[in-house]
Amino acid sequence: MGLRLFNTLSRSVQEFVPLDPQGRKVGMYCCGPTVYDYGHIGNFRTFVFADLVRRYLEFRGFEVTHVMNITDVEDKIIRRVRETGSTLREYTRRYEEAFLEDCRALNLKPPHHRPRATEHIGPIIGLIRKLEQRGFAYVVDGSVYFSIERYRAAGHRYGKLLNLNLDQLRAGERVSHDEYGKESIADFALWKARTPEDGDVFWPSPWGEGRPGWHIECSAMSMKLLGESFDLHLGGEDLIFPHHEDEIAQSEGACGHPPEQPFVRYWLHGAHLLVEGRKMSKSLGNFFTLRDLLARGFSGREIRYLLLSAHYREPFNFTLEGLQGARSALARIDECLDRLRERAGDASAPASPTLPDTFARAMDEDLNVSAGWAAVFDWVRECNRRLAGDGMTPAEAAAELAAWERVDQVLGIGLRPAVTAPPEVQQLAAQRQEARKQRDFARADALRQRIRELGWIVEDTPKGPRLKKA
Ligand code: AMP
Ligand code: ZN
Repeated sequence: MGLRLFNTLSRSVQEFVPLDPQGRKVGMYCCGPTVYDYGHIGNFRTFVFADLVRRYLEFRGFEVTHVMNITDVEDKIIRRVRETGSTLREYTRRYEEAFLEDCRALNLKPPHHRPRATEHIGPIIGLIRKLEQRGFAYVVDGSVYFSIERYRAAGHRYGKLLNLNLDQLRAGERVSHDEYGKESIADFALWKARTPEDGDVFWPSPWGEGRPGWHIECSAMSMKLLGESFDLHLGGEDLIFPHHEDEIAQSEGACGHPPEQPFVRYWLHGAHLLVEGRKMSKSLGNFFTLRDLLARGFSGREIRYLLLSAHYREPFNFTLEGLQGARSALARIDECLDRLRERAGDASAPASPTLPDTFARAMDEDLNVSAGWAAVFDWVRECNRRLAGDGMTPAEAAAELAAWERVDQVLGIGLRPAVTAPPEVQQLAAQRQEARKQRDFARADALRQRIRELGWIVEDTPKGPRLKKA
């Protein structure tokens, strides 16, 4: 059985078959951040999900080209640029850097391409021109709009992802003051004419000075880097409509894809991160940035674990207690790995197949990561049982460690960051060791107690004493 994924386009779980006739190369595009502020961990749930998809495809032997755009021109950004008196570039680069730093803290693999919208104005204009030539775009006062009616009249279907009544959907949308000239409320901007509020943020175009709409950026950059038709497009579920629906309309409108080879073959959407049952978002004010959590003493590794613990299509409720739980769960894994390492010593062995096989069986079913973690914890229990008796040879321990490393290529939890005890504690440990040598056990015990009070535990192992955080 191969890998199966839930495709929003077909609303069903489908076997994943890449476009590449050799079945190896995979093109994957994930809508990236709008760099107007620090990312909140709801945003990062989506990026951790994209990282999981990428890593699992690689685990399965696919050669992935991963693209994630940076939206560095947009209404909210322009407003902030104006308010802070900075240039667009200064402003967005600061938050782009912060975003990349957060990605590193979460151990996200860097995408192969990270195109910025402002560096693709040429291809964006080119794509709008194509839409004009095909009769799907019209100009009003220097702005260019996409006509859904003309697109449908040409035999295309708008609403492939949602399958809902379009007019109902668009009716509730806000129409900004510069969009009153649209032929229909459902139409959306491809190019926005320059307004005084835009300040220095504008580019020349065949329709006059202005800037691109958000949806067209993704169509232009994804097709430029991955081809007119590619395998996977990802994002959070809020992007299904209108963003992704509009991307399909623009791309297929401009290129005229044949039905058997659409713009994107598999659309994957991650469910939201919730706080007390509501979407974590800037506008609701119920959000934590990654930085907030790091400042509270949680590690990127613990946050990654928590964000990865639930299936990507399940809404997931974020709590600080959940993060504490992540800490204990990771401690159980770390403890087991420490003991395996100790038992393995210098032995090496090829990976034992059991853990990677059970893990892959779970992940093949639409990335069922919860079942994947269950496999990991069953394995921890089993290893602990075998380690407790003398039922595990050094070579077997090495084989289990290699198995973990294979699975961790996907989970990306990595090794526990080395924690070294402060000098004071190390000194006490050395004194205790000395006392033991002198057979002064009362003093050794007192020192152990003192160390404990400082938050550390001394464990006597065959290789000598080891300090562990209590
Ligand atoms: P933005 O920077 O607002 O363009 O969003 C970046 C990504 O975060 C998009 O894929 C959104 O769908 C996703 N996103 C926004 N809010 C949440 C949330 N509460 N949970 C999960 N993903 C989210
Ligand atoms: Zn996008």
